[in-house]
Amino acid sequence: MKHLVTGGAGFIGSHLIDKLINRGDTVCCLDNFFTGNIENIKSHIGNPSFEMIDHDVINPLKIDTQKIWHLACPASPKHYQSDPIKTTKTSFLGTLNMLELAKETGSEILIASTSEVYGDPEVHPQTEEYKGSVNPIGIRSCYDEGKRVAESLCFDYFRENGVKIHVARIFNTYGPRMHPEDGRVVSNFICQSITNSPITIYGEGNQTRSFCYVDDLVNGLDKLMYSNHTGPINLGNPNEFTILELAALVKEQTKSFNEIIFKELPKDDPKQRKPCIKLAKEKLNWEPKINLDVGLQKTIDYFKKILESELK
Ligand code: NAD
Ligand code: UDP
Repeated sequence: MKHLVTGGAGFIGSHLIDKLINRGDTVCCLDNFFTGNIENIKSHIGNPSFEMIDHDVINPLKIDTQKIWHLACPASPKHYQSDPIKTTKTSFLGTLNMLELAKETGSEILIASTSEVYGDPEVHPQTEEYKGSVNPIGIRSCYDEGKRVAESLCFDYFRENGVKIHVARIFNTYGPRMHPEDGRVVSNFICQSITNSPITIYGEGNQTRSFCYVDDLVNGLDKLMYSNHTGPINLGNPNEFTILELAALVKEQTKSFNEIIFKELPKDDPKQRKPCIKLAKEKLNWEPKINLDVGLQKTIDYFKKILESELK
């Protein structure tokens, strides 16, 4: 089986590649290294089953492949807002190019969509039928609307061209290989705790998120790709925490006494988020297995290792 993984040098993509290579498949990893890191895929370099292409998905690509996992897109608010027009181009042109490739090669394609398509949701927990509440002109819209148009393109290629699609709506995922400076809450809190810096809570910390460990998520993506389900399908951990609760948990697990400081809440920051995963349970027989305390410990161990080696 020949796979193309776009965004393969990133956090989720690199874990997916590990799984595919360990299974004995052949993988082509495509990345432009905007937020990706060569360290994430270093263990596969030199393996004849692994190939790396430095390519930007906004440009068309011709390559022989059977399954396309389209993950290329900056994912953290800090990074996707740093060049919002490029983010929209990546979501739209990148997905268009990958769907064209799927059409030409007869490949199946899975795209990494997001819970952000629900915006600041009024329906809780979020079900796949919920159409969302996205600000179309706000600072998050390059990402939110970008992913919405990516989903729309997938369904038009499915209806018009019979391309076999799988749309995953991924909820907040964390774990080893997150970029230490991408500004997401789990990596920020852990890095702040380890380096004895104040823990930064945006707003009052009463907003909620539901955190899925990366191994669980990758298992869900794998089950979706090998299913007959087009999606969209929510993949995430339904256990919901306030940001204050997350800060307390990280402090406890890192044994840190750092102060907590409160900063301005970014505009359009969703107040609540929790996936309804009934569909994933029914259609994919999937549900997350790793609790937050267990996943956090693995992530803390990872960041301790990389931050210590950086300090040496
Ligand atoms: P990440 O930033 O670690 O990975 C994204 C990868 O895509 C990086 O390696 C980056 O260099 C690459 N990339 C970005 N723009 C590109 C371009 N134009 N051409 C080629 N490569 C490009 O983020 P991640 O958390 O691993 O996210 C992977 C995918 O999952 C993204 O599509 C993201 O939107 C989606 N997702 C992630 C989460 C999450 O919580 N991690 C939640 C919802 C959706
Ligand atoms: N957040 C925070 N402190 C940080 C980083 C993030 O309080 O140092 C908050 C952020 O405002 C949001 C939540 O944590 O309410 C999740 O943020 P993240 O950027 O991880 O993901 P997203 O907002 O895309 O869910």
